[in-house]
Amino acid sequence: MTNRILVCPFDESIINTLHHEAVVVTINDPRDVVPAAAEVRKSNMLHAVSLHISLPLSFIHFEREWAEVPLALYAPSMGDFKTVADMLPILRMLNIRIFLPADKKESYTSARILSSLKVPVGLSFNGSSPDWETMSDLMHFAVYSRVEHAPIEPFDYLINNYRINDRTDFDSVYFNDSSRYLHISKEGRVGLSFNDIAEDQYIADSIADIQDIENMPEYRNNVDKWQEHFHRSDGCAYCGGWRACLGKFFEVTEDRKACGKFFTEVMEAAENNKKIHGQRRELWQP
Ligand code: SF4
Repeated sequence: MTNRILVCPFDESIINTLHHEAVVVTINDPRDVVPAAAEVRKSNMLHAVSLHISLPLSFIHFEREWAEVPLALYAPSMGDFKTVADMLPILRMLNIRIFLPADKKESYTSARILSSLKVPVGLSFNGSSPDWETMSDLMHFAVYSRVEHAPIEPFDYLINNYRINDRTDFDSVYFNDSSRYLHISKEGRVGLSFNDIAEDQYIADSIADIQDIENMPEYRNNVDKWQEHFHRSDGCAYCGGWRACLGKFFEVTEDRKACGKFFTEVMEAAENNKKIHGQRRELWQP
């Protein structure tokens, strides 16, 4: 595993066992943003702080000192727009990306508003099917709108990392791509995603095992799990959008035509983007 990144809770007994690792530290209390970042930076590289809150965004008191912290903020909704608008000067100073749940219709409007106000945003997926038409509308705004706006994930990642003859896994946006991220539980066990940790699904029982993780069958089986879609004749094996989705919505979406159409549109947008950039002449720079 090259450029491994560890995702772990803000727990000194765990963080102090790590040295020279790239770390995403997870917290639930906004007051922990700066202390958690400082704790990781004592002997590791901070990749990001992942803050998961249960109150709307408008309830957060953003601090100027957060500007030094790469921050992924997961909130259930935007909340009161006027309050958020008043926070814009400080929000724009921060190195932040705000995620809203894709299974709530209001999130799409909120994401569009925040993006238009130059605040980077994203949709988060929590195991239920999004409305594919609404997703498509937002993706078109994110990719094609000429109005200046901040990136919207996961579309920005897919467009910029798309490979014409290969898979593009947007799980990285959520620190869940198992070829890059390993998750550590509060007991020090190792899983491959936030869901794995929440569901007590582990591939190793100790942080010490991460040094040899690539040779563990439990790890290899999970990293190669995408191949399972080709062992059975379900919808994903024949889906035109598979290289951008990798079957992520197979369990939660019944209408595979709708999700397939959406991811085919994403791939077309990414291919167009590549063509446009391929045609652009690079002029000499003074
Ligand atoms: S878009 Fe739908 S059908 Fe296609 S790979 Fe994803 S889940 Fe499967």
